[in-house]
Amino acid sequence: MGKADLHIHSSASDGQLNPAELLRKVKSKNISTVSITDHDTIKGYLEAKKIAPELGIELIPGVEITSLWNGREIHLLAYNFRDDDEDFLLLLNRHKVARRKRMHSIVDQLNKNGVDIDYDEIRAESRSGNIGRPHAATVLINKGYVASVPEAFIRYLSAEKIATIKTNYAGIDEVVAATKSAGGIISLAHPGPLYSDDDLDQLLSFGLDGIECIHPSHRFAVQKKFTSLAKTRNLLITGGSDYHGTGKSEYDPFLGIVTVSLRHVDALKRTSLNRKKTIKSLN
Ligand code: AMP
Ligand code: ZN
Ligand code: FE
Ligand code: FE
Repeated sequence: MGKADLHIHSSASDGQLNPAELLRKVKSKNISTVSITDHDTIKGYLEAKKIAPELGIELIPGVEITSLWNGREIHLLAYNFRDDDEDFLLLLNRHKVARRKRMHSIVDQLNKNGVDIDYDEIRAESRSGNIGRPHAATVLINKGYVASVPEAFIRYLSAEKIATIKTNYAGIDEVVAATKSAGGIISLAHPGPLYSDDDLDQLLSFGLDGIECIHPSHRFAVQKKFTSLAKTRNLLITGGSDYHGTGKSEYDPFLGIVTVSLRHVDALKRTSLNRKKTIKSLN
């Protein structure tokens, strides 16, 4: 039986490898089914879609969407949506613009704190990908302000440090609705230690379809907790390595090791297929 990884990043966001390199890497780890889940963009997925068949890799449409909930930025994973759904693509485009604006605000704040950095340096680091804090972290390292990505986050980029910067990300209700209208399913990314039981109840009440139970940040006991929660609530189980390939992420060694069983992928496919059928019958 093959294995699946439903959470990896390409250079279309903050990953190192371009989609073709990434698929070859995935292939070398004997992963048969994969989803490229870049931050708020499907550009990498669309590129990979052209070459996955010749590599014999099954590619599941995916994206990791940043969303606002209770004033917090949270991560949701959307899968198997129609990749030409206009409203869904509009939402992603809104996030791409919001990310740029947010990065300008982060740069302003860094400048005020005496850090000599400008937006174009960070944009250059992001190449043509969706801009994000890891790109800023790399520039901070290159300029000698910090020694590592974790240090860059602790000193300058963490949620607490940028708490006053408001980003125009869609609320969780909007993300859930847009994903479902596109025939997709939506899962709560790496809940790990991020949420209390009460938070989880609230989050699930927005109609999430699944939980990312399997993730490198989850110790076995945590994985077990979320797997049994998913079973009790009749939710899909998703998971993956969160590979970024930069050599700077603590999760990078887990490609091919933190994987999910194909039966979870089958359940995901069944749910999204039924959703697409329902949408069709309503039109
Ligand atoms: P952004 O998309 O700008 O919100 O940045 C989020 C990304 O930054 C995550 O997907 C991780 O790749 C990375 N990240 C977040 N927090 C940390 C941290 N404390 N240390 C290292 N990387 C982090
Ligand atoms: Zn990332
Ligand atoms: Fe994430
Ligand atoms: Fe991720």
